[in-house]
Amino acid sequence: MKLLVTGGCGFIGTNFIYHMLAKHQDLSIVNLDKLTYAGNRANLAPLEEKNDGRYSFVRADIADADAMASILKEHSIEAVVNFAAESHVDRSISDPAPFITTNVNGAQTLLHAAMKADIQRYVHVSTDEVYGSLSMEDPAFTENNPLAPNSPYSASKASADLIVRSYFKTFGYPAVITRCSNNYGPWQFPEKLIPLMFKLASADKPLPVYGDGMNVRDWIFVTDHCLGVELALLKGRPGAVYNFGGNAEKTNMDVVQAILRTLGKPEDLVTFVTDRPGHDRRYAMDYDLAARELGFAPQYDFETGLTETLAWYQHHHDWIASIESGEYRKFMDNWYGDR
Ligand code: NAD
Repeated sequence: MKLLVTGGCGFIGTNFIYHMLAKHQDLSIVNLDKLTYAGNRANLAPLEEKNDGRYSFVRADIADADAMASILKEHSIEAVVNFAAESHVDRSISDPAPFITTNVNGAQTLLHAAMKADIQRYVHVSTDEVYGSLSMEDPAFTENNPLAPNSPYSASKASADLIVRSYFKTFGYPAVITRCSNNYGPWQFPEKLIPLMFKLASADKPLPVYGDGMNVRDWIFVTDHCLGVELALLKGRPGAVYNFGGNAEKTNMDVVQAILRTLGKPEDLVTFVTDRPGHDRRYAMDYDLAARELGFAPQYDFETGLTETLAWYQHHHDWIASIESGEYRKFMDNWYGDR
């Protein structure tokens, strides 16, 4: 199979490409990425150096209709997994426009090009954030929960989900949507909670925790998300939506304390900062449908996954330094400056 992966130079895309090439010898992958601040082509340098015909890279924007049509044709693509997105909630609050351009217009442009090219396997990667927020007593989200996004990021992802749904209902295009909880693992950009707290704690700097630190997320090790997307690609029912979760509901403080414990750093590094506007209180995922239809089951418990993740970051300080470009540094300076 010739698979197009978009956003493959980002966190989950990088993990997914390594995961798929290791598992499927008959697979070749074209990685299409715009290389925003979050995309790092060097993550996949070992595959480029191998030069065995199973991996290639194309720089392009999923919102560019002509480029999408010609790349799908030129590479004889048979399947698409769309990871490409603007993915950081705080950035969507500072500047929502790029989120609409990529996550809504870009998602539709790529989807449309794939339908025109008659590509019969298409996975649109989405998030639990489209469902909005739960109280502590609510049952976990199922695929039947209404979409009730609260941030410009989650609203842009929910919009794309509805467009993908409409392509199935209106045109019969057999796309599948996956919605996953919070990922962690190697190659995650250090603006997200776990690598950010690792980086700051390693340097004995204050760890900013939003509000009371009691917001709950369900954490999934990135390889388990990759497994879910792989199953959706190979076995997903046309038009279906599948939730994936990691069975690991944790408060932000639970996560930060676990990082501090593992690194042997004191708890007084924690500094509570003004809460994020519209901050969702709790996410939790019921993935029973994916378990039944796809055989999905997460393999990692949180403690094992976190230990592996922190060990990876400890051995890759150079990776963190290399991706902290001027633009990223400017964002962090502004972010801290605001509070
Ligand atoms: P990321 O920000 O690390 O990577 C995004 C990648 O997309 C980058 O390589 C970037 O260069 C690329 N990109 C951005 N705009 C593009 C465009 N217009 N055209 C082509 N490429 C573009 O994000 P991530 O954390 O790896 O998330 C990947 C996907 O998974 C996103 O769709 C996100 O919504 C979804 N998701 C993420 C999580 C999570 O916890 N990280 C959870 C559930 C779902």
